Amino acid sequence: MNYRYFAWMSIGVIGMISLLYTSCSRKLLTERITQIDQVELSKNQKSTTNACRDALAYTPYPESQALFPTQRVRLNFHFLNTEDKTNNYSIDKSKDLVKQLLRNANLRLKTNHKMNLPIGNDTPVCLPSYEYILQSQDDDDGIYFHYDDELCFFANKGKFRNNYNTDVIEKYAVGLDTIINVFFMPHIPEEKRSKSYKVTRTGVALGNGLKIAGFFETGKQPWEIATLLNHEVGHILGLRHSWNTNDGCEDTPRNPNCWSSKGTGNCTVASNNVMDYNNSQMAWTPCQLGLIHRQFNDQYATQRKLLVPQWCEYSSKALLIHEDQVWEGAKDMHSDIIVKSGAALMIKCRVHLPQGAMIKVEPGATLILDACYLHNDCGMEWGGIEVMTRGKKKGLVISNGDVRLENIVAD
Ligand SMILES: [Zn+2]
Repeated sequence: MNYRYFAWMSIGVIGMISLLYTSCSRKLLTERITQIDQVELSKNQKSTTNACRDALAYTPYPESQALFPTQRVRLNFHFLNTEDKTNNYSIDKSKDLVKQLLRNANLRLKTNHKMNLPIGNDTPVCLPSYEYILQSQDDDDGIYFHYDDELCFFANKGKFRNNYNTDVIEKYAVGLDTIINVFFMPHIPEEKRSKSYKVTRTGVALGNGLKIAGFFETGKQPWEIATLLNHEVGHILGLRHSWNTNDGCEDTPRNPNCWSSKGTGNCTVASNNVMDYNNSQMAWTPCQLGLIHRQFNDQYATQRKLLVPQWCEYSSKALLIHEDQVWEGAKDMHSDIIVKSGAALMIKCRVHLPQGAMIKVEPGATLILDACYLHNDCGMEWGGIEVMTRGKKKGLVISNGDVRLENIVAD
């Protein structure tokens, strides 16, 4: 998170307090605060790592699923064909295939497999907390057909190679800054192929555009294209190949990139990772998921714009904090956060709250704001922090370092 562009709020003043209830000592008193006393944290409370950038702070581990509502990634689809309409699926068939493809690709996102490599690993299995939706515009269904003899073909080899060319994307993309545009293209015609040219299912991610070839000619089923879609969308969401490069993850070992396990030599066991080339592509590691969700939660990331901004909608189902928690990594909350009596919540990074939402600190609960940024990312105002008191038992809010509270509704 880069805070350079913001003026820091100076902390240290007891803030504005509005008493919503006043009465005798055993009743619940509620105060709303917009600024907080600063207290120096002890050494072991302070973060020693880069809490807001560490990919693993964004991994949707099973125990923190409540903090990772399923994000919805917008996709639309284009079928490129020749003007005589002989080089791709018909309109009806294409629409049916897109629906099957989306269903299968989403099913795979919900059935993450255990990593094959390294052999004997105990890498945790976490579920990706995102899914694809077909994004339509006002007057269409998000599936488009283009008949264009010049731009319809795809070639990844030889004289006519154009796999990295973006002309077709530039000409036909719809809503490219907020939607992943998937282009299904035929391979170049036979007379333009070199002898070694292979007509296979293949893809390339170019910005928010994605070119996939070979769907029509190979007759592959949608479920066979789904792994390719997940791989290429993985690139768009910020992942790199894992077999031969430093992909920023320690839990994706470099490997010979074998298509399948042969039980011998280099390929005793093949990788099953989605970002290698293999006959599975069904495993995402905690670090890979962390990298994706870090982009989703980065206010300035292009990937965040591909999501339906569900975090702008207030949900009445509050998030209850019953046990001590430390929040590393930025988060976009959908609801009130209630820190229950006896629990402590420490926030270390950016947290968005939707319009009307509050953070409530019950009597005997503690909220620790450690150089964090609480705001509304939807151009609206959230409700601020409410501290409750019952008798001698008080909710406590303390802060450390540069804490920013913004977009709080005025009384
Ligand atoms: Zn790739």
